[in-house]
Amino acid sequence: MEKHEHTHHHECECHEHEHHHEHHHEHEHHHHHHEEEEGHGRLIKIIVAAVLLGVAVIIEKKTDWATWQYLLLFLVPYLVVGWDTLKEAAEGLFHGEALSEDFLMSIATLGALGIGFMPGAETQFPEAVFVMLFFQVGELFEEMAEGRSRKSISHLMDIRPDTAHVERDGKLETVKPDEVAVGEIILIQPGEKVPMDGVVLEGKSSLDTVALTGESVPRSIHEGDEILSGCVNLSGVLRVRTTKAFGESTAAKILDLVENAASAKSRSESFITKFARVYTPIVVALAVLIAVVPSLFTGEWATWIYRGLMFLVVSCPCALVISVPLTFFGGLGGASRKGILIKGSNLVDTLAKVKTVVFDKTGTLTEGVFEVTAVHPEVIDQQELLHLAAHVERHSTHPIAMALRNAYPNEADDCSVEGIEETAGHGVIANVNGKRVAVGNSKLMEAEGAAWHPCEHNGTIIHVAIDGIYAGHVVISDRIKADAAEGIRALKAAGVNKTVMLTGDQESVAADVARTLHVDEYHAQLLPADKVSEVEKLLKEGTLAFVGDGINDAPVLTRADVGIAMGALGSDAAIEAADVVLMDDKPSKIATAVRIARRTLGIARQNIVFAIGIKVLVLVLAALGIATMWMAVFADVGVTVLAVLNAMRALRS
Ligand code: ADP
Ligand code: MG
Repeated sequence: MEKHEHTHHHECECHEHEHHHEHHHEHEHHHHHHEEEEGHGRLIKIIVAAVLLGVAVIIEKKTDWATWQYLLLFLVPYLVVGWDTLKEAAEGLFHGEALSEDFLMSIATLGALGIGFMPGAETQFPEAVFVMLFFQVGELFEEMAEGRSRKSISHLMDIRPDTAHVERDGKLETVKPDEVAVGEIILIQPGEKVPMDGVVLEGKSSLDTVALTGESVPRSIHEGDEILSGCVNLSGVLRVRTTKAFGESTAAKILDLVENAASAKSRSESFITKFARVYTPIVVALAVLIAVVPSLFTGEWATWIYRGLMFLVVSCPCALVISVPLTFFGGLGGASRKGILIKGSNLVDTLAKVKTVVFDKTGTLTEGVFEVTAVHPEVIDQQELLHLAAHVERHSTHPIAMALRNAYPNEADDCSVEGIEETAGHGVIANVNGKRVAVGNSKLMEAEGAAWHPCEHNGTIIHVAIDGIYAGHVVISDRIKADAAEGIRALKAAGVNKTVMLTGDQESVAADVARTLHVDEYHAQLLPADKVSEVEKLLKEGTLAFVGDGINDAPVLTRADVGIAMGALGSDAAIEAADVVLMDDKPSKIATAVRIARRTLGIARQNIVFAIGIKVLVLVLAALGIATMWMAVFADVGVTVLAVLNAMRALRS
């Protein structure tokens, strides 16, 4: 994995040398550089301070100096490692944010340094330095973890193309992708990213789609195929006519989505923020009480102040504040590696709770690629029936329309087709050479008053009526997706209670698909509005996910608790309406998404329970005087480090 990323980067750099620097990129590079340096600086300070601390401890053992001399000795490593923290704490105090972790750490360590001067108290100099040192180790860790998960997200960001080679006036120009217009012809060399969506005019190649779909097997591409930006061209040179501008292309859309996803906060995440806001002041107040109240009775000020300071060290809620958002971030990253785009960490909570999954049929459970399998004309001949149907469907984007157009490929403009009217869930009506031609299902025929009759053939029956007189029907069929059955089974295995299929198609086709796939329930012959009301009924039974292809079902996608869009590659409506986008149309990815969500939530919960548990334990021990400063440091930094490590598991799936 690492290696792969490396070569990728290398490639990128080469391109940048050759061509213009893109502003955006330049910026990003600076950013990384800066961070790396800061991380290095921190590491060096930690190492230097650790060595100095060791030396100071040895000197302390071998000498017999005055307390203030030892203070000076230990102040050296303390300031080396803690200067920045002290400064930030002071600045925070200035801005009225007294309860920052920097502040808590500064007060605790300064207090520990000062306690040695109290009558009858032992010095705590090494402890004070160690707390500060370990605190920095925790910070370093957090930085590294965040950098890693950002990198894995930016693995996706790698889909941003840098340049495009465009043919203009017979010459090849290399320009920024956003300068290429729709309809221009671009050339894509092997090893380059596809800069924008388009159709292949010339050339054969295979495309690496792993960044988009998580599918590692390259897809072979021929003349006439559509290709999507963000894929990497592997073998041959491709001549491509662009069909979308750079900003409208798949890569740009996905990047937008991913960039926005991280900012939507989940419920668990905001719970942590609220929790920290209440928890920290309470523990600080308790620390003060512990330092003061028992001392008033016993007179042992040093002991109790020290316990109070330990309390402060433990009270830092960093483990939670850092690890929980990091877990969600990791979960989103892990999902996107599998070609599942989750639009925000708030959806992880909902996705994990899904009890009912409702599917649209066409394009979701089935390929949505129809083929005409039989033509049964009445009154007119076969060719004429297909001809009429293709005319009427001239402008429809419905998969059925495409099948009908494909069955009569020479649908030229030899007839006048006017007043095209498409009704979702019914079909299309248009005027062809002055005659009213209706193409659609039995509902449409009834509305037209045409005497339709059923067909014994298996498949979706599309009837045709001319001026209200029945003219025959075309049988078209669709294939069930290869992994649809597996997808339904996996959902059951993941603990989803109920799977439901909704379709506008006829009863017989629906029953056939439902039986093959073992869905629990199906409803056929629904209009888009009926789908909404069915979903509304099912919503009462528990958290519901609706899976659709974005054609005709955008309202349901938004109505469901979680809208999952299939076939989203290229379908703008779906990308916009859905909460989760499956990049490779595979129904089996729904179960994967639910699993990833549950796992992510589980890891977040583990962290919450673990961190709070250890802290409460050490707080009690500190109050009882059993805990040492070392334990307090572990309860804070150790727990943070472990929680961050645990959070990183969410990235892997
Ligand atoms: P699904 O619910 O399976 O996705 P739709 O709601 O898109 O199906 O369509 C439902 C039914 O409406 C189709 O099975 C077909 O009978 C009819 N229909 C919809 N659009 C068209 C069209 N453009 N041409 C012919 N029939 C259509
Ligand atoms: Mg549909």
